[in-house]
Amino acid sequence: MELRATAITEVKRGHPWVWKSSIASASLARFEALAAGADVELVGPDGSVVGGAVADPLSPIAARVWSADGSPVDDVLIRDRVARAIALRRDLTKTDTTAYRLVHGEGDRAPGIVVDRYGPVAVLRLDGDAARARRDQIARAISPLLREIGVVTLLARDRQEDPVVIFGELPREPVVVREHGAPFVADVVRGQKTGAFLDQRENRRRVGAMARDKTVLNLFSYAGGFSLHAALGGATRVTSVDSASAAHATAQSSFRAAGVDPKQHDFITADAFAFLVEAKKKNKTWDIVVSDPPSFAHNEKSMVRALSGYRTLHRACAAVLAPGGIFCAASCSSHVDAKTFVSTLDDAALDRHDLRLIALHGPPEDHPTIAAFPEGHYLKFAVLT
Ligand code: SAH
Repeated sequence: MELRATAITEVKRGHPWVWKSSIASASLARFEALAAGADVELVGPDGSVVGGAVADPLSPIAARVWSADGSPVDDVLIRDRVARAIALRRDLTKTDTTAYRLVHGEGDRAPGIVVDRYGPVAVLRLDGDAARARRDQIARAISPLLREIGVVTLLARDRQEDPVVIFGELPREPVVVREHGAPFVADVVRGQKTGAFLDQRENRRRVGAMARDKTVLNLFSYAGGFSLHAALGGATRVTSVDSASAAHATAQSSFRAAGVDPKQHDFITADAFAFLVEAKKKNKTWDIVVSDPPSFAHNEKSMVRALSGYRTLHRACAAVLAPGGIFCAASCSSHVDAKTFVSTLDDAALDRHDLRLIALHGPPEDHPTIAAFPEGHYLKFAVLT
Protein backbone atom coordinates (compact mmCIF):
# COMPACT_ATOMS: atom_id res chain seq x y z
CA MET A 1 0.00 0.00 0.00
CA GLU A 2 1.49 3.31 -1.07
CA LEU A 3 1.54 6.24 1.36
CA ARG A 4 1.77 9.96 0.75
CA ALA A 5 5.15 11.58 1.48
CA THR A 6 4.24 13.23 4.82
CA ALA A 7 2.93 9.94 6.18
CA ILE A 8 6.17 8.21 5.20
CA THR A 9 8.13 10.71 7.30
CA GLU A 10 5.83 10.10 10.26
CA VAL A 11 6.06 6.31 9.99
CA LYS A 12 9.85 6.54 9.78
CA ARG A 13 9.84 8.70 12.93
CA GLY A 14 7.92 5.94 14.70
CA HIS A 15 4.33 7.17 14.58
CA PRO A 16 2.30 3.94 14.77
CA TRP A 17 -0.82 5.17 12.96
CA VAL A 18 -1.50 5.64 9.26
CA TRP A 19 -4.49 7.90 8.70
CA LYS A 20 -6.86 6.95 5.90
CA SER A 21 -6.18 10.32 4.29
CA SER A 22 -2.48 9.38 4.02
CA ILE A 23 -3.05 6.52 1.60
CA ALA A 24 -2.08 7.34 -1.98
CA SER A 25 -5.19 7.39 -4.16
CA ALA A 26 -3.83 4.65 -6.42
CA SER A 27 -3.84 2.25 -3.44
CA LEU A 28 -7.16 3.21 -1.91
CA ALA A 29 -9.58 0.90 -3.72
CA ARG A 30 -7.46 -2.20 -3.02
CA PHE A 31 -7.01 -1.14 0.60
CA GLU A 32 -10.73 -0.72 1.11
CA ALA A 33 -11.35 -4.26 -0.11
CA LEU A 34 -9.15 -5.71 2.69
CA ALA A 35 -10.59 -7.38 5.78
CA ALA A 36 -9.99 -5.79 9.17
CA GLY A 37 -6.76 -7.17 10.61
CA ALA A 38 -5.16 -8.05 7.25
CA ASP A 39 -1.39 -7.55 6.94
CA VAL A 40 -0.34 -4.64 4.73
CA GLU A 41 3.09 -3.60 3.54
CA LEU A 42 3.58 0.17 3.58
CA VAL A 43 5.58 1.52 0.66
CA GLY A 44 6.74 4.91 -0.61
CA PRO A 45 6.18 6.28 -4.13
CA ASP A 46 9.47 4.66 -5.22
CA GLY A 47 8.26 1.26 -4.01
CA SER A 48 10.63 1.11 -1.02
CA VAL A 49 9.18 -0.58 2.07
CA VAL A 50 8.71 1.67 5.13
CA GLY A 51 6.71 -0.61 7.40
CA GLY A 52 4.47 -3.56 8.10
CA ALA A 53 1.02 -2.87 9.51
CA VAL A 54 -2.43 -4.29 10.17
CA ALA A 55 -5.34 -2.81 8.24
CA ASP A 56 -8.56 -1.32 9.57
CA PRO A 57 -10.31 -0.23 6.36
CA LEU A 58 -13.41 1.26 8.03
CA SER A 59 -11.55 3.42 10.56
CA PRO A 60 -9.90 6.84 10.10
CA ILE A 61 -6.85 5.11 11.67
CA ALA A 62 -6.46 2.96 8.57
CA ALA A 63 -3.46 0.94 9.67
CA ARG A 64 -1.38 0.40 12.79
CA VAL A 65 2.32 -0.09 12.23
CA TRP A 66 4.13 -3.06 13.78
CA SER A 67 7.46 -3.17 11.99
CA ALA A 68 9.86 -1.03 10.01
CA ASP A 69 10.77 -3.78 7.57
CA GLY A 70 7.32 -4.80 6.39
CA SER A 71 7.25 -8.16 8.13
CA PRO A 72 3.78 -9.61 8.68
CA VAL A 73 2.30 -9.61 12.17
CA ASP A 74 2.60 -13.27 13.11
CA ASP A 75 2.55 -15.07 16.47
CA VAL A 76 6.32 -14.69 16.83
CA LEU A 77 6.22 -10.91 16.42
CA ILE A 78 3.29 -10.52 18.83
CA ARG A 79 4.97 -12.74 21.39
CA ASP A 80 8.24 -10.83 21.05
CA ARG A 81 6.59 -7.47 21.72
CA VAL A 82 4.62 -8.78 24.67
CA ALA A 83 7.70 -10.48 26.15
CA ARG A 84 9.58 -7.16 25.97
CA ALA A 85 6.64 -5.40 27.60
CA ILE A 86 6.58 -7.93 30.44
CA ALA A 87 10.34 -7.57 30.97
CA LEU A 88 9.97 -3.80 31.40
CA ARG A 89 7.63 -4.33 34.37
CA ARG A 90 9.78 -6.87 36.19
CA ASP A 91 10.94 -4.46 38.91
CA LEU A 92 7.49 -3.09 39.65
CA THR A 93 6.64 -5.93 42.02
CA LYS A 94 9.51 -4.72 44.27
CA THR A 95 7.34 -1.73 45.13
CA ASP A 96 4.66 -4.01 46.65
CA THR A 97 2.49 -3.40 43.60
CA THR A 98 0.46 -6.22 42.05
CA ALA A 99 -1.76 -4.17 39.71
CA TYR A 100 -0.15 -2.58 36.71
CA ARG A 101 -0.33 -2.31 32.94
CA LEU A 102 1.49 -5.24 31.42
CA VAL A 103 1.14 -4.18 27.78
CA HIS A 104 0.45 -0.58 26.79
CA GLY A 105 -0.51 -0.93 23.12
CA GLU A 106 1.23 1.55 20.83
CA GLY A 107 3.56 2.62 23.68
CA ASP A 108 4.94 -0.92 23.84
CA ARG A 109 5.01 -1.17 20.04
CA ALA A 110 2.12 -3.64 20.20
CA PRO A 111 -0.57 -1.47 18.60
CA GLY A 112 -4.12 -2.02 19.82
CA ILE A 113 -3.16 -4.50 22.56
CA VAL A 114 -3.69 -3.50 26.18
CA VAL A 115 -3.22 -5.95 29.02
CA ASP A 116 -3.76 -4.90 32.62
CA ARG A 117 -2.71 -7.19 35.43
CA TYR A 118 -4.57 -7.49 38.72
CA GLY A 119 -2.52 -10.06 40.64
CA PRO A 120 -3.60 -13.45 39.32
CA VAL A 121 -6.06 -11.96 36.79
CA ALA A 122 -5.15 -10.22 33.54
CA VAL A 123 -7.59 -8.27 31.40
CA LEU A 124 -7.06 -7.92 27.65
CA ARG A 125 -8.57 -4.91 25.91
CA LEU A 126 -8.23 -4.63 22.16
CA ASP A 127 -8.42 -1.23 20.56
CA GLY A 128 -9.69 -1.02 16.98
CA ASP A 129 -11.23 -3.56 14.61
CA ALA A 130 -7.82 -4.72 13.35
CA ALA A 131 -6.73 -5.98 16.77
CA ARG A 132 -10.24 -7.26 17.55
CA ALA A 133 -10.26 -9.31 14.35
CA ARG A 134 -7.09 -10.98 15.58
CA ARG A 135 -8.25 -11.70 19.09
CA ASP A 136 -7.79 -15.47 18.86
CA GLN A 137 -4.29 -15.12 17.47
CA ILE A 138 -3.29 -12.57 20.10
CA ALA A 139 -4.73 -14.69 22.91
CA ARG A 140 -2.90 -17.76 21.61
CA ALA A 141 0.39 -15.91 21.27
CA ILE A 142 0.42 -14.23 24.67
CA SER A 143 -1.27 -16.77 26.96
CA PRO A 144 1.89 -18.86 27.64
CA LEU A 145 3.81 -15.67 28.57
CA LEU A 146 1.10 -14.62 31.01
CA ARG A 147 0.91 -18.07 32.60
CA GLU A 148 4.68 -18.01 33.04
CA ILE A 149 4.46 -14.93 35.29
CA GLY A 150 1.66 -16.35 37.42
CA VAL A 151 -1.50 -15.15 35.69
CA VAL A 152 -4.19 -17.79 36.21
CA THR A 153 -7.12 -16.06 34.51
CA LEU A 154 -7.18 -14.04 31.30
CA LEU A 155 -10.34 -12.12 30.43
CA ALA A 156 -11.04 -10.13 27.29
CA ARG A 157 -13.19 -7.05 27.79
CA ASP A 158 -14.70 -5.18 24.90
CA ARG A 159 -16.67 -2.00 25.58
CA GLN A 160 -20.17 -2.79 26.90
CA GLU A 161 -20.05 -6.54 26.28
CA ASP A 162 -19.62 -9.13 29.01
CA PRO A 163 -16.05 -10.30 29.55
CA VAL A 164 -14.93 -13.38 27.65
CA VAL A 165 -12.82 -15.90 29.55
CA ILE A 166 -9.73 -16.82 27.51
CA PHE A 167 -8.29 -19.09 30.19
CA GLY A 168 -8.98 -19.72 33.86
CA GLU A 169 -12.27 -18.83 35.52
CA LEU A 170 -14.36 -15.68 35.69
CA PRO A 171 -13.66 -14.19 39.15
CA ARG A 172 -16.87 -14.27 41.19
CA GLU A 173 -15.61 -11.59 43.59
CA PRO A 174 -13.76 -8.36 42.91
CA VAL A 175 -9.99 -8.95 43.05
CA VAL A 176 -7.93 -7.51 45.92
CA VAL A 177 -4.57 -6.20 44.72
CA ARG A 178 -1.87 -3.92 46.10
CA GLU A 179 -0.51 -0.58 44.97
CA HIS A 180 2.58 0.61 46.83
CA GLY A 181 1.53 -1.56 49.72
CA ALA A 182 -2.06 -0.28 49.83
CA PRO A 183 -4.65 -2.98 49.21
CA PHE A 184 -7.40 -2.05 46.81
CA VAL A 185 -10.41 -3.77 45.34
CA ALA A 186 -10.77 -3.92 41.56
CA ASP A 187 -13.94 -5.00 39.84
CA VAL A 188 -12.36 -6.51 36.75
CA VAL A 189 -15.71 -7.72 35.41
CA ARG A 190 -17.92 -4.62 35.71
CA GLY A 191 -15.56 -1.76 36.61
CA GLN A 192 -14.67 1.02 34.16
CA LYS A 193 -11.98 0.25 31.55
CA THR A 194 -10.30 -2.94 32.80
CA GLY A 195 -11.30 -2.35 36.44
CA ALA A 196 -9.07 0.52 37.55
CA PHE A 197 -7.16 3.51 36.23
CA LEU A 198 -3.67 2.16 36.70
CA ASP A 199 -1.97 5.16 35.08
CA GLN A 200 -2.39 7.31 38.21
CA ARG A 201 -0.51 4.93 40.51
CA GLU A 202 2.53 7.15 41.13
CA ASN A 203 0.36 10.25 41.46
CA ARG A 204 -1.80 8.51 44.06
CA ARG A 205 1.38 7.66 45.99
CA ARG A 206 2.45 11.31 45.75
CA VAL A 207 -0.87 12.51 47.16
CA GLY A 208 -0.55 9.98 49.99
CA ALA A 209 2.90 11.32 50.83
CA MET A 210 1.57 14.89 51.14
CA ALA A 211 -1.59 14.12 53.11
CA ARG A 212 -0.50 13.94 56.78
CA ASP A 213 -2.87 15.92 59.01
CA LYS A 214 -4.61 17.44 55.99
CA THR A 215 -8.21 17.51 54.83
CA VAL A 216 -8.51 16.18 51.29
CA LEU A 217 -11.14 16.66 48.59
CA ASN A 218 -10.92 14.03 45.82
CA LEU A 219 -13.07 14.98 42.83
CA PHE A 220 -13.95 12.32 40.21
CA SER A 221 -12.80 9.79 42.77
CA TYR A 222 -14.01 6.59 40.99
CA ALA A 223 -12.87 3.62 43.13
CA GLY A 224 -11.19 5.96 45.62
CA GLY A 225 -7.53 5.40 44.74
CA PHE A 226 -6.38 8.91 45.62
CA SER A 227 -8.70 8.88 48.65
CA LEU A 228 -7.29 5.68 50.11
CA HIS A 229 -3.68 6.74 49.66
CA ALA A 230 -4.54 10.06 51.33
CA ALA A 231 -6.25 8.30 54.24
CA LEU A 232 -3.33 5.87 54.67
CA GLY A 233 -0.95 8.84 54.46
CA GLY A 234 -2.58 10.38 57.53
CA ALA A 235 -5.27 12.72 56.16
CA THR A 236 -7.69 13.76 58.89
CA ARG A 237 -10.74 13.51 56.64
CA VAL A 238 -11.12 12.62 52.96
CA THR A 239 -14.13 13.66 50.90
CA SER A 240 -14.62 11.64 47.70
CA VAL A 241 -16.98 12.94 45.03
CA ASP A 242 -18.10 10.92 42.00
CA SER A 243 -21.33 10.71 40.03
CA ALA A 244 -21.20 6.89 40.09
CA SER A 245 -22.47 5.42 43.36
CA ALA A 246 -21.20 1.92 42.46
CA ALA A 247 -17.66 3.35 42.44
CA HIS A 248 -18.10 4.54 46.04
CA ALA A 249 -19.12 1.02 47.11
CA THR A 250 -15.86 -0.31 45.63
CA ALA A 251 -13.93 2.52 47.30
CA GLN A 252 -15.43 1.67 50.68
CA SER A 253 -14.48 -2.00 50.24
CA SER A 254 -10.92 -0.88 49.56
CA PHE A 255 -10.91 1.27 52.70
CA ARG A 256 -12.03 -1.72 54.75
CA ALA A 257 -9.44 -4.01 53.09
CA ALA A 258 -6.78 -1.47 54.10
CA GLY A 259 -8.04 -1.28 57.69
CA VAL A 260 -9.43 2.26 57.34
CA ASP A 261 -12.95 2.90 58.62
CA PRO A 262 -14.90 4.41 55.69
CA LYS A 263 -17.30 6.03 58.20
CA GLN A 264 -14.52 8.43 59.20
CA HIS A 265 -14.62 9.81 55.64
CA ASP A 266 -17.23 11.15 53.21
CA PHE A 267 -18.34 9.53 49.96
CA ILE A 268 -20.63 11.80 48.02
CA THR A 269 -22.55 10.81 44.89
CA ALA A 270 -22.86 14.08 43.00
CA ASP A 271 -21.89 16.02 39.94
CA ALA A 272 -18.48 17.46 40.82
CA PHE A 273 -19.26 20.87 39.29
CA ALA A 274 -22.50 21.21 41.27
CA PHE A 275 -20.73 20.00 44.42
CA LEU A 276 -18.08 22.71 44.05
CA VAL A 277 -20.69 25.45 43.61
CA GLU A 278 -22.44 24.34 46.82
CA ALA A 279 -19.18 23.99 48.74
CA LYS A 280 -18.13 27.51 47.80
CA LYS A 281 -21.51 28.90 48.91
CA LYS A 282 -20.93 27.29 52.30
CA ASN A 283 -17.34 28.67 52.42
CA LYS A 284 -15.91 25.17 52.73
CA THR A 285 -12.20 24.66 52.08
CA TRP A 286 -9.79 21.73 51.93
CA ASP A 287 -6.00 21.53 52.38
CA ILE A 288 -5.57 19.30 49.32
CA VAL A 289 -7.87 19.25 46.29
CA VAL A 290 -7.43 16.52 43.65
CA SER A 291 -9.24 16.80 40.31
CA ASP A 292 -9.07 13.87 37.87
CA PRO A 293 -11.99 14.24 35.44
CA PRO A 294 -12.76 12.06 32.42
CA SER A 295 -11.42 13.27 29.07
CA PHE A 296 -12.95 16.61 28.03
CA ALA A 297 -11.68 16.57 24.44
CA HIS A 298 -12.50 13.59 22.27
CA ASN A 299 -11.25 15.22 19.10
CA GLU A 300 -9.46 18.28 17.83
CA LYS A 301 -12.78 20.09 17.24
CA SER A 302 -13.91 19.92 20.86
CA MET A 303 -10.65 21.52 22.06
CA VAL A 304 -11.98 25.03 22.60
CA ARG A 305 -14.83 23.77 24.74
CA ALA A 306 -12.51 21.41 26.58
CA LEU A 307 -10.10 24.18 27.52
CA SER A 308 -12.85 26.40 28.81
CA GLY A 309 -14.17 23.35 30.73
CA TYR A 310 -10.79 22.88 32.41
CA ARG A 311 -10.56 26.59 33.26
CA THR A 312 -14.03 26.55 34.83
CA LEU A 313 -13.27 23.40 36.80
CA HIS A 314 -9.89 24.68 37.98
CA ARG A 315 -11.34 27.99 39.11
CA ALA A 316 -14.00 26.15 41.12
CA CYS A 317 -11.31 23.94 42.68
CA ALA A 318 -9.12 26.93 43.56
CA ALA A 319 -12.13 28.56 45.24
CA VAL A 320 -12.32 25.74 47.81
CA LEU A 321 -8.56 25.37 48.32
CA ALA A 322 -7.44 26.58 51.76
CA PRO A 323 -4.67 29.20 51.91
CA GLY A 324 -1.36 27.34 51.65
CA GLY A 325 -3.19 24.31 50.26
CA ILE A 326 -2.12 21.94 47.48
CA PHE A 327 -4.05 21.62 44.23
CA CYS A 328 -3.48 18.53 42.07
CA ALA A 329 -5.06 18.88 38.64
CA ALA A 330 -5.06 15.98 36.19
CA SER A 331 -6.03 15.62 32.54
CA CYS A 332 -6.30 12.48 30.45
CA SER A 333 -7.28 14.24 27.19
CA SER A 334 -4.72 13.29 24.55
CA HIS A 335 -5.67 16.31 22.43
CA VAL A 336 -4.63 18.68 25.22
CA ASP A 337 -0.84 18.70 25.49
CA ALA A 338 1.03 19.49 28.70
CA LYS A 339 1.76 23.12 27.80
CA THR A 340 -1.86 23.80 26.89
CA PHE A 341 -3.08 22.08 30.04
CA VAL A 342 -0.83 24.23 32.21
CA SER A 343 -2.33 27.30 30.54
CA THR A 344 -5.70 26.35 32.10
CA LEU A 345 -4.08 26.76 35.53
CA ASP A 346 -2.90 30.36 35.20
CA ASP A 347 -3.81 33.11 37.66
CA ALA A 348 -6.66 34.41 35.53
CA ALA A 349 -8.18 30.93 35.26
CA LEU A 350 -7.83 30.26 38.98
CA ASP A 351 -8.70 33.79 40.13
CA ARG A 352 -5.81 33.52 42.59
CA HIS A 353 -2.33 35.00 42.61
CA ASP A 354 -0.62 32.89 45.24
CA LEU A 355 -0.23 29.46 43.63
CA ARG A 356 2.99 28.10 42.18
CA LEU A 357 3.37 25.09 39.88
CA ILE A 358 5.75 22.78 41.75
CA ALA A 359 5.55 19.66 39.58
CA LEU A 360 4.12 18.36 36.35
CA HIS A 361 4.03 14.59 36.23
CA GLY A 362 3.08 12.17 33.49
CA PRO A 363 2.28 8.47 33.47
CA PRO A 364 4.42 5.83 35.20
CA GLU A 365 6.89 3.48 33.49
CA ASP A 366 4.31 0.80 32.81
CA HIS A 367 2.63 3.29 30.45
CA PRO A 368 5.53 3.95 28.06
CA THR A 369 5.16 6.31 25.12
CA ILE A 370 6.71 6.70 21.69
CA ALA A 371 8.55 9.98 21.04
CA ALA A 372 6.85 10.62 17.69
CA PHE A 373 3.35 9.71 18.91
CA PRO A 374 1.79 12.74 20.66
CA GLU A 375 -1.58 10.95 20.87
CA GLY A 376 0.03 8.62 23.40
CA HIS A 377 1.19 11.43 25.71
CA TYR A 378 -2.20 11.88 27.31
CA LEU A 379 -1.75 12.00 31.07
CA LYS A 380 -0.85 15.23 32.86
CA PHE A 381 -0.77 15.75 36.63
CA ALA A 382 0.02 19.27 37.78
CA VAL A 383 0.76 20.07 41.42
CA LEU A 384 0.31 23.67 42.61
CA THR A 385 0.74 25.23 46.01
N1 SAH B 1 -9.27 9.41 39.98
C1 SAH B 1 -9.75 8.08 39.63
C2 SAH B 1 -10.15 7.97 38.16
C3 SAH B 1 -11.19 8.95 37.72
S1 SAH B 1 -12.00 8.47 36.27
C4 SAH B 1 -8.71 7.05 40.03
O1 SAH B 1 -7.62 7.39 40.52
O2 SAH B 1 -8.98 5.87 39.88
C5 SAH B 1 -13.25 9.66 36.12
C6 SAH B 1 -14.43 9.48 37.08
O3 SAH B 1 -15.25 10.65 36.94
C7 SAH B 1 -15.36 8.32 36.80
O4 SAH B 1 -15.44 7.53 37.96
C8 SAH B 1 -16.74 8.93 36.51
O5 SAH B 1 -17.80 8.21 37.13
C9 SAH B 1 -16.61 10.29 37.16
N2 SAH B 1 -17.42 11.39 36.59
C10 SAH B 1 -17.65 11.68 35.31
N3 SAH B 1 -18.34 12.84 35.19
C11 SAH B 1 -18.53 13.29 36.47
C12 SAH B 1 -19.14 14.45 37.02
N4 SAH B 1 -19.69 15.38 36.24
N5 SAH B 1 -19.14 14.60 38.36
C13 SAH B 1 -18.58 13.66 39.16
N6 SAH B 1 -17.98 12.56 38.70
C14 SAH B 1 -17.96 12.37 37.36
